[in-house]
Amino acid sequence: MNDFARRSLLWLLAISAIALGVSIAMTPPMGLLALSALLLLWLGFHLYHITLLLRWLNRPAPGRIPEGYGAWHHVFMSLYRRARKQKQSKRKLASILDRFINAGEAMPDGVVVLDEYDRIEWVNPVGVQHFGLDLQTDVGCQILNLVRQPSFHTYMAAQSYSQPLILHSIAPGECVLSIQLVPFDTTRKLLLSRDITQMERVQTVHRDFVANVSHELRTPLTVVGGFLETLSDMPEVDDATLRQFLPMMLEQSRRMQSLVEDLLTLSRIENSPRSMQLETVDMDRMLDTLMVEAEGLSQGRHRIVLEKSCTNWLWGNQQELHSAFGNLVSNAIRYTPEGGSVTLGWHAQDEGRAVFSVSDTGIGIPREHLPRLTERFYRVDRGRSRGNGGTGLGLAIVKHVLVRHHARLDVQSEAEQGSCFSVIFNAEQLTAAEH
Ligand code: ADP
Repeated sequence: MNDFARRSLLWLLAISAIALGVSIAMTPPMGLLALSALLLLWLGFHLYHITLLLRWLNRPAPGRIPEGYGAWHHVFMSLYRRARKQKQSKRKLASILDRFINAGEAMPDGVVVLDEYDRIEWVNPVGVQHFGLDLQTDVGCQILNLVRQPSFHTYMAAQSYSQPLILHSIAPGECVLSIQLVPFDTTRKLLLSRDITQMERVQTVHRDFVANVSHELRTPLTVVGGFLETLSDMPEVDDATLRQFLPMMLEQSRRMQSLVEDLLTLSRIENSPRSMQLETVDMDRMLDTLMVEAEGLSQGRHRIVLEKSCTNWLWGNQQELHSAFGNLVSNAIRYTPEGGSVTLGWHAQDEGRAVFSVSDTGIGIPREHLPRLTERFYRVDRGRSRGNGGTGLGLAIVKHVLVRHHARLDVQSEAEQGSCFSVIFNAEQLTAAEH
């Protein structure tokens, strides 16, 4: 028996005892009258408390619990404790829910919660962006009415969610999304989206690169293989045949060698840490070396000039800078017909900058090709580049070296008019000459 019932029973017994006492002391009708009066009082007491209870139950705030007497005091106190506990656990649940929502909103991937009819229940900001949704109007709408791509409809209809779906450009702008549906809670689904545009781009670049390298190596290999086959089929090889075949085979093997060397240089530059070995680069000696190399490449077919007005040296990596400058010089010689001139320059510029330039009077580059020149294997004229020993990697190497030296490449060129490749160094990359 609980406290309330026990107390009520005690009160009833007390009222009955008083009524019995009155009947004995006075008359039975007086006893009945006393009993009725006491019962009425007792009933009034309870009705009063029940009214208080009902009023509180309409708006059950734990802070406004009514004051009770007797057994009702205990009833109200226990209600107060319960209401307070409920309020605390409600607050705890709300904070857990808030944390979950905050975590969902902070996720770098898109998250859309769908109900059993594929209607949007909740979506995080990245999901809004990925699916091009409007939070005000689209929550509660069917996702299939909002994402109209047929492949998405097929994916949703197939209900086989083990593999993600790759979708191109749902939201404004060129983007690629990987979409995965995850069923949960028996009927609901989570629609997860990840922007894989960058990854796709890297994969495409990687695929193109492998295809290009294979293609570049296949041609000379086929040529060398063909010569060797012909030679091995001959019962006797005379000197004249050897003299005819060997230079061609040598040329092809040199082509493969320079390709592999350029690939190794590119890979070394790309894979070595950004904080490379820095040193003072003696620009006087560098320019002298480049002039000697240019003369060697030209074999007297061009007029080669050095113009120097800057006395500063550079702060950088000697080997990488030599590789970049050497590529520019080699291009100028290779793309300038006999009789033309090539000018190497090292000049001071405004704001403490300095520029290394290589200009030629060669074949020049039509304007539309200029933005793509530093892409790997990009050539204006494939035949001409291969014909003069080009690998298509020279300017890609130049670009990587310059990025590592915080320098900028500027190309001025016009078809048939010649070109000028300038490397602009900031003041921070310059240092005083040491003599
Ligand atoms: P390649 O080994 O083919 O020369 P690069 O990356 O060094 O490769 O150059 C890319 C392309 O830019 C070349 O194929 C050529 O078409 C063009 N190019 C580079 N330098 C010159 C130049 N000085 N004059 C004309 N065209 C040039």
